[in-house]
Amino acid sequence: MGRRQLWRRVGFIPKYNYFKPAGIPMVNLQEIVLLVEEAEAIRLKDIEKLEQEECARKMNISRTTFSRILDSAREKLADALLNGKAIRIEGGNFEMAVRRYRCIRGHEWEVPFEMLVNEPPKLCPKCDTPNIMPLLPSSAIWGKGGWRKGHKGIHRA
Ligand SMILES: [Zn+2]
Repeated sequence: MGRRQLWRRVGFIPKYNYFKPAGIPMVNLQEIVLLVEEAEAIRLKDIEKLEQEECARKMNISRTTFSRILDSAREKLADALLNGKAIRIEGGNFEMAVRRYRCIRGHEWEVPFEMLVNEPPKLCPKCDTPNIMPLLPSSAIWGKGGWRKGHKGIHRA
């Protein structure tokens, strides 16, 4: 499909999404927001130690865009650590590399992103019911992340 890709593909949503320096009252606390795709950029480059090209490919973006996201992420983290600011991880323009579905009878399964693009699931693979819906990861309910405004058709059961 030749559709233009606007969403940054993310394989992981951090489990912990709020960090604050010890001993600073909330009222005095400044906060920076690290977007989910920025966290993913850090994860791919600095934790998985992938080359930038590989990172960009995994997130389905250009190398330039990846580089910009990574720079922004590192800048925010440095700012938070050195200037004693809280970090909240949320929001951004992202979509999960894998999506979980559930049918009305409770079967659950995962659909890789590549398959979703070509052919969103219509039936439960176990019982063939068409009553299926995508599950949102619990950590995706926070923020205004890409989940709620993702591809048309995928989020509507
Ligand atoms: Zn089923």
